[in-house]
Amino acid sequence: MYDVTIIGGGVCGAAVAMYLSKYDLKCCLLEKENDIAMSTTRANSGIVHAGYDPEPDTLMARLNVRGCELIEEICEQLNIPYKKCGSMVISFDSKDEAHLEELYERGIANGVRGMELINKEELLKREPNLANDVTGALYASSAAIVNPWRLCIGMAETAAKNGVEFYLDSEVTEIEKINGAFKVTAGGKTYETRFIINAAGLYADKIAALAGAQDFEIFASKGQYFLLDKTSSWLVNSVIFQCPTEKGKGVLISPTADGNIIVGPNAESNNERDDVSTTREGLDFVAQEAAKTSKLVDYRENIRSFSGLRANSDKKDFIIGESALCRHFINVAGIKSPGLSSSPAIGEYVIEILEDCGLIMTEKAEWSYPEAHICFAELSNEEKAEICKRNPKYGNIICRCNVVTEGEILDALDSSYIKPRTLDGIKRRTGTGMGRCQGGFCGVRVHEILCKYYGIDATEVLWDKNGSNIVAGKVGESND
Ligand SMILES: Cc1cc2nc3c(=O)[nH]c(=O)nc-3n(C[C@H](O)[C@H](O)[C@H](O)COP(=O)(O)OP(=O)(O)OC[C@H]3O[C@@H](n4cnc5c(N)ncnc54)[C@H](O)[C@@H]3O)c2cc1C
Repeated sequence: MYDVTIIGGGVCGAAVAMYLSKYDLKCCLLEKENDIAMSTTRANSGIVHAGYDPEPDTLMARLNVRGCELIEEICEQLNIPYKKCGSMVISFDSKDEAHLEELYERGIANGVRGMELINKEELLKREPNLANDVTGALYASSAAIVNPWRLCIGMAETAAKNGVEFYLDSEVTEIEKINGAFKVTAGGKTYETRFIINAAGLYADKIAALAGAQDFEIFASKGQYFLLDKTSSWLVNSVIFQCPTEKGKGVLISPTADGNIIVGPNAESNNERDDVSTTREGLDFVAQEAAKTSKLVDYRENIRSFSGLRANSDKKDFIIGESALCRHFINVAGIKSPGLSSSPAIGEYVIEILEDCGLIMTEKAEWSYPEAHICFAELSNEEKAEICKRNPKYGNIICRCNVVTEGEILDALDSSYIKPRTLDGIKRRTGTGMGRCQGGFCGVRVHEILCKYYGIDATEVLWDKNGSNIVAGKVGESND
C-alpha cells in the first residue's frame, strides 16, 4: 500500500514527488510515456515569470511568486541551466502604457520585487535591437529563463534518490475505490494507495473521471515556436513580451537558458490533445507578431520549429486541492502558464494539502539532492585536461555543436536514478542534438552508445516516444 501515488511525470508531478520525498512516506509516480518531461513540460517558453501577470489573490499569483524564488535555489543545487536575465513588457502607445501601469500595480499586490517602469530611451539602451516605435517597458528583474525539462528531471531525480518509486510506460487506465483507499491500474499492474495526486496535465480531467471526480474540463491550446541558433543570441538580453491579451501573454522574443533565441508562441484553441505539429500559417503568425517587437529577427538562423500544448481548463485559476467529489483524490490540474514557474511552490502546497487531509508527515532525518553531473563545456582548459586524463571518454566529443562528450552521456546512463533509454532522453539530460545540426552528427553516435550500453539491437533504439524506432533493419534484408 502506497501512502501517495502521483499520476503524471511532468514538472508538477516531479515537484510534488520531490517535496514528498522529504517525508517518511511510501510514494510512487506513474507516467504513461517511456520517460519523464514528455508532454507540456518539454515544449514551452522556459520563462520563470516574475508574477505580475496573474490576478491578485489567486493561486496562480501566490504560487508563481514563491516558485520564482524556489527555482533559483533548486537550479543552483542541481546545476540546471538557469539565468536571471529579467523580463520586459513593452508598450507601443498610451493604451499599452496604461496596461503596464496596471501590471506594475498587480505585481506590487502579488509581492513581486524588482519591478520598474522605464522610458523609451532607457529601454533602447538596454535592448538596442527592438523596433523604434516602442514607447517604454515594465522591467522585472526577478524573471529568469530555465531549461524546463532539466528542471523536471532534476526534481524527479531528487525524488527518486530519496525513495520515490518511478514507473514509466505506466498509463493509468482504471481507478477503483477500495475500503477508503484506491486501486490504480497502470501498464498492466495494480497499485494500492491511500492518496492520489492527479498531475496528468492535458489528461487530468480524464484521470479525474476515472475516479468519479470530474468537475472540470481540459482544453488543449497549441503554441508554435521558432528556435534560432546561438548565432542570434545578440538579439535580446532579457525576455521581451508585448502587452498580454485575453488570449495570453502573446508572442515573445527571449534568450533560452541554453543560449539560443526563442520566438513564439501563438495560441490555437481547441486542439487535439496530442497534436504537436507545426504549420506554415501558425509560424507565419508568430513571425508577423514578433516583427512588431524587433525587425531584426533572422529566420535563416532557425534550427527548429516546435509546438507545445497548454492544458487550459474551464476554471480561471489553477485547480489544486482535494476533489469535492472524491476524498483523498487531489487535483493538480489546469496548470497552464505560469505552471513551470510555479512548479516547486505547487509541490510545497500539495504537502500542506495532504497534511490538512490527515496524512501524517514526519520529516526524514536525511535528505539530499543528487550530485550534479559534469558539464564538460563549462570546465576550464586545465579542468578539461585533468578530467580527460582521468577518463579518456571525456575526450571523445559526441555532440560537436554543444561540445557534449561520451563521458557525460555515460554519466547520464550510469548515475541517473531514472535512466534515459532514447536519443531524446539523452538529449534532455546532456544537451546532445540541441545544436545547429539538430543531431545530424551526434544522432548516430548516441544511437551506438545506447545499443552498447543496453546490449540491444540497433532496431530497438528509439528516438523519442514508443514506436519512434530509427533503424528498420539491414539494407538488403527483407522486412517480411
Ligand atoms: C506554449 C506554452 C508555453 C508555456 N510557457 C511557459 C513559461 O514560459 N513559463 C511557465 O511558467 N509556464 C509556461 N507554460 C506552462 C507550463 O509549461 C506548464 O504549466 C507545465 O509544463 C505543466 O506541467 P504538468 O506537469 O502539469 O503537465 P505535463 O508536463 O503535461 O505532465 C503531465 C504528465 O502526465 C502524463 N499522463 C497523462 N495521462 C496519463 C495517464 N493516463 N497515466 C499516466 N500518466 C499520464 C503525461 O504523459 C505527462 O508526462 C507554457 C505552456 C505552453 C504550452
